[in-house]
Amino acid sequence: MDRTASVLARAETLCRSRGVRLTPPRRRVLEILCASDRPLGAYEILAAMRGPGKASAAPPTVYRALDFLLEQGLVHRLETLHAFIGCTHPDHPHSSQFLICADCGEVQELEDDALTERLGSAAAESGFRPRRPVVEVIGTCAGCAHKGPPGETDRRPPPTASE
Ligand SMILES: [Zn+2]
Ligand SMILES: [Zn+2]
Repeated sequence: MDRTASVLARAETLCRSRGVRLTPPRRRVLEILCASDRPLGAYEILAAMRGPGKASAAPPTVYRALDFLLEQGLVHRLETLHAFIGCTHPDHPHSSQFLICADCGEVQELEDDALTERLGSAAAESGFRPRRPVVEVIGTCAGCAHKGPPGETDRRPPPTASE
């Protein structure tokens, strides 16, 4: 069974145990996200659903499917990219941190409970009640860091003397 098939099988089992339905559009959106090696925006998902030989889908269908998948913890939303990614371990509710490669677009999901707890207590200390703690780190992944000389991957303009 490939990765996408096993994620879908796991999602089916999870939904059944929770008494919710993984309807065909929900399943299809999850499949598209899992098959992709980078996060996808809602319109990219819509385009993939409208591919040749596929039944057409309307934007509300995609948004409703995404809402369901987010609710069930099967996908995550990446705020900085306005995109979605399939969760690698949806069997339990969790807060994640994301490492986003600015060069190849690869996203790694971390589940660091200590970091989540620390963030929660730091927020509580200032009387803040987090609704959706979002931790997204933009940088260079290990694969890209090994490729090419440094500087080539660094797209920032060089500092100017006038600064
Ligand atoms: Zn996750
Ligand atoms: Zn990379």
